[in-house]
Amino acid sequence: MESETVGPTPPIDWSVDRADLDIRLAASQVEVPAEFLSDLEDRGIEVLFSVDDRVEASRDWWPLAQIWALEGLAPAIADAVVRPATTTEVADVVAACSRHGVPVTAAGGRSGVLGSSVPVHGGILLDLTGLAGILLVDSDSMVVEVAAGTFGDTLEADLAEKGFTVGHWPQSISLSTVGGWLACRGAGQLSNRYGKIEDLVVGLEVVLADGSVVITGGHARAAAGPDLTQVFVGSEGTLGIITRSWLRLHHQPKVRLTSAFGFESFGAANDACRRIMQRGATPAALRVYDSTEAAPRFDTGDAHVLLVLDEGDTHLVEADMAVVAEECTTADPLDSSLVEQWWEDRNDVAGLAAITKKGFVFDTMEVTVSWSNLDSCYRSVLDVVGAMDGVRVVSAHQSHAYSDGACLYFTFAARPEDPTVREAWYVAAWDVAARAALSAGASLSHHHGVGLNRARFMAEALGSGFEVLVTLKEALDPQGILNPGKMGLPDRFGEVFWP
Ligand SMILES: Cc1cc2nc3c(=O)[nH]c(=O)nc-3n(C[C@H](O)[C@H](O)[C@H](O)COP(=O)(O)OP(=O)(O)OC[C@H]3O[C@@H](n4cnc5c(N)ncnc54)[C@H](O)[C@@H]3O)c2cc1C
Repeated sequence: MESETVGPTPPIDWSVDRADLDIRLAASQVEVPAEFLSDLEDRGIEVLFSVDDRVEASRDWWPLAQIWALEGLAPAIADAVVRPATTTEVADVVAACSRHGVPVTAAGGRSGVLGSSVPVHGGILLDLTGLAGILLVDSDSMVVEVAAGTFGDTLEADLAEKGFTVGHWPQSISLSTVGGWLACRGAGQLSNRYGKIEDLVVGLEVVLADGSVVITGGHARAAAGPDLTQVFVGSEGTLGIITRSWLRLHHQPKVRLTSAFGFESFGAANDACRRIMQRGATPAALRVYDSTEAAPRFDTGDAHVLLVLDEGDTHLVEADMAVVAEECTTADPLDSSLVEQWWEDRNDVAGLAAITKKGFVFDTMEVTVSWSNLDSCYRSVLDVVGAMDGVRVVSAHQSHAYSDGACLYFTFAARPEDPTVREAWYVAAWDVAARAALSAGASLSHHHGVGLNRARFMAEALGSGFEVLVTLKEALDPQGILNPGKMGLPDRFGEVFWP
């Protein structure tokens, strides 16, 4: 049977019939009382029960889950997929989950790469893609009110017709939703100019664990206590369900300029980025590929390659590019067609599923690190993963730059002869890579978030601040029904078989 469920997760050749899949992550899956679901249906809320729909909706782009699929394992399977179309319906579903003690896992495009939307304890998968579309554009204030389940490419196409852009362009723009961006604290590829999603958000509508609805923020700037909007940004569906948001807009760019440079070392290229950002320039993209990544991609030999792209108002872009040129005088100028090549390929995601089928185990790890620790963080992660048995590649690029630091985006892969070793290699690689990065002063994540895969590092990464997050969770979701098993937060539904 064809799956009706929306969600562009990578196509999978399941090795066994989906009805016979074993569940990898939890011993028991919470079943939802039948009368609960029929009650939702009676109220006109869409509920999907078929095995195919439940299996498809219960996975995301976590690379390891692709490997499990080839082994006949599903990470978990929701008992039902519920697809509300309005905030009131979301509130009704969550209130019912609260009454019955049923876990509820929010999902947007399911493009997360850490298992964050996998319903590890079954229960309800709350598919939010039914809440879609622009609700209002305030052209004077340049703010858009948009439903949380709106996919990024649709949002930008609709805004472009009005002469605006949000400017949030993740590689996964056509796979991900506004609610998912906010829930994961995501970054677009042009965030140096437009900001990360936490800079772009003005306010939120959120359904809390008891089904009540709150509105946060809404003003350009405010000093009425802590910023409640930011409590929910990055909370990955564990503190509330985002149903609506207000985001800042920018004008469609008038001009786009590019340049490219080759450096002798990764450190020298990043140092140029540091100087550029600290002079107050904000080129939309300022990306440094180490030579391991640059050579096969751009045919640039031993060079560490800096790609620069800026867009926006003509005067600002010209000024930015002048600062870039001044700070790169010691580098080799490269053909700016390299930037066009990156621009053309920037949303291509076809290769990822293919790599898994060829027997590779791989992942990427993005962290933020101060400029003063960037070189040692880069070296440490390359050294520890590079020393692992069977490693085929470990490399990095710097993908987002700030005045105080940057995002390092590592890639690691192996192709063990024995397929049973793949999962152990994956876990070990994450253990050494994340711990090396944390020891070098890096954050746990820059834009992918935490989900399930990074949950084990949370207490270590946040230190004593982690207890504040636990207190927030217990206050906002006393029954622990919202996305249990994620972010290292207390989980009342039993064991999850993951380190
Ligand atoms: C090929 C590829 C490229 C990527 N590139 C980028 C990139 O450039 N930048 C970047 O930031 N990320 C990137 N990602 C990661 C992913 O796209 C982002 O994390 C994205 O923000 C997830 O959005 P989503 O709608 O798919 O959320 P989902 O994967 O469905 O959910 C992610 C998390 O958010 C929660 N959630 C989703 N919607 C809501 C809601 N409305 N309310 C509360 N919680 C919610 C879920 O419970 C889950 O915990 C990439 C992923 C892939 C596969």
